[in-house]
Amino acid sequence: MPDLHYGDLVISLREGESVLEALLRREQKIPHSCRAGACQSCVLRSTTPPPASAQLGLKETQRQQRYFFACMYRPDSDLTIDLDATPKEIAAVVESKEMLSEDVLCLRLRPEERLSYQAGQFIQLRREDGLTRSYSLASQPDDDLLVLHIRILSNGRMSRWMRDTLEIGEQMFIRGPSGDCFYTEGNHAQPLLLIGTGTGLAPLYGILQAALRAGHTGPIYLIHGALSRSGLYLQDELSALAAMHRNIVYDRCVLHGDPSEGVWAGDLKQHLKSRIRSLKGVRCFICGDPDMVKDLKKISFLAGAAMKEIFADAFILSPS
Ligand SMILES: Cc1cc2nc3c(=O)[nH]c(=O)nc-3n(C[C@H](O)[C@H](O)[C@H](O)COP(=O)(O)OP(=O)(O)OC[C@H]3O[C@@H](n4cnc5c(N)ncnc54)[C@H](O)[C@@H]3O)c2cc1C
Repeated sequence: MPDLHYGDLVISLREGESVLEALLRREQKIPHSCRAGACQSCVLRSTTPPPASAQLGLKETQRQQRYFFACMYRPDSDLTIDLDATPKEIAAVVESKEMLSEDVLCLRLRPEERLSYQAGQFIQLRREDGLTRSYSLASQPDDDLLVLHIRILSNGRMSRWMRDTLEIGEQMFIRGPSGDCFYTEGNHAQPLLLIGTGTGLAPLYGILQAALRAGHTGPIYLIHGALSRSGLYLQDELSALAAMHRNIVYDRCVLHGDPSEGVWAGDLKQHLKSRIRSLKGVRCFICGDPDMVKDLKKISFLAGAAMKEIFADAFILSPS
């Protein structure tokens, strides 16, 4: 079996074992979360070119520098990790915590140096003990604070800790940014679809604000889905924005519950199909629940959106 060289450590890899699994088996502290190549927490660099399958979703510059996802790389020959190339981390201090709804926490962090990012991209957030999770940025690059919307899971290690234990002034650590879910200037008249579920609203909110700041003139359809009304948040602010800007259409859609002004009841996918018949020429941003993201991407494509105009982030959870 191939050997994995990690500093002084040499690990004989087991059949079908990923680099991450091998390193965790030997009790190495490697940040990780989704184990599906989405959260970008476990990025490492090899001294030899990794296979393309272990680099899907990385930037071209990172691919060329031999970065790869440790969770997605199951080597069939010897491999050496370049320990001098650990991704850079920035410390950030908790500035404020505020509940936006029953189960959505708004966390504001002050990074100790400016993070260069686009609204809607995501970061990897690490706790002192190594626990790492990805969160999308609802703030704008020139804001002093990074703003995250965090859904509190009933047994979520990071989310519950952030709500219950994390204190104002406490330090966390950031890597990133990652992802290509962000607004790019150039075609101000192009229609935009921003659709997502739960805290998938965080990147969509960032993208919406970025589009408005850039003077976007084309129609912007913002559709926020949730299981029930308690999953909706920032409703007053978004309704006010839609009232101020005639090109914004703001829909909410809840699976369970009765319809009311601006809130539709039923399945988000059906709602999208009935609301917007053609997505030809529309730039689509889709975020939140992984299954829903997958379905909405397919629907958008079948409704005419070009594949290169569909940007999506699936909020894949770590396996239990
Ligand atoms: C690219 C990307 C961007 C992301 N952006 C965001 C974001 O902006 N906001 C955000 O809130 N999250 C986001 N996530 C998800 C986030 O990274 C974490 O996975 C999430 O916060 C849960 O972490 P945790 O430690 O609290 O839960 P974990 O301890 O990791 O628990 C998750 C596991 O608990 C189980 N579980 C427990 N309670 C529940 C419950 N109520 N519902 C469902 N499963 C449950 C599930 O089986 C799951 O496997 C993103 C993920 C990715 C990959």
